[in-house]
Amino acid sequence: MSMGKTELEIKIYGSAVLRRKAAAVKTPEARHRELLSEMARFMYEHSGIGLAAPQVGCGESLIVVDIGTGLYKLINPRIIRREGSQAIEEGCLSLPGVSVKVKRAKKITLKALDHEFNPVTVTAEGLLACVFQHEIDHLKGRMIVDYASLLDKVRLKKKLAELYRRAGNEDVRESGAEQRKLRL
Ligand code: ZN
Repeated sequence: MSMGKTELEIKIYGSAVLRRKAAAVKTPEARHRELLSEMARFMYEHSGIGLAAPQVGCGESLIVVDIGTGLYKLINPRIIRREGSQAIEEGCLSLPGVSVKVKRAKKITLKALDHEFNPVTVTAEGLLACVFQHEIDHLKGRMIVDYASLLDKVRLKKKLAELYRRAGNEDVRESGAEQRKLRL
């Protein structure tokens, strides 16, 4: 059905766009603001707490985050300061059924443009810092499975092959190639 409105669709592990580096937005346009709003709606509909543009098939540097303390819609986010460390069990909308404990900075400061294209600086701690780092990883083509421990890798091997097929890859041998990159 076409109503002139594009419905976002989640890209899952095995989709090439998730492994590409997102391009910086050079000239912010109305479509970026619209996509950020659609991404936020999508995130809430799927009970997510963060979403990066590559996860909906867009290779541009956009993220949305809301851990329940307010919505951030950011363009070209980059971390300029990291302090301390924490390890939180993380999930990902692009990796349904998968969780990995990831060690990250406990406190971060980032710079970005907000959805009105104004420069902003955000300092975050704990879970919020974790989610920003997770989403900014997506913009670099990095996912939580890249942090998996040896034990996690054994535990996740079958699940990842299954997701890889679900992402529309006929050749399951490529899942082996992707997994080798993770040193599975
Ligand atoms: Zn994710």
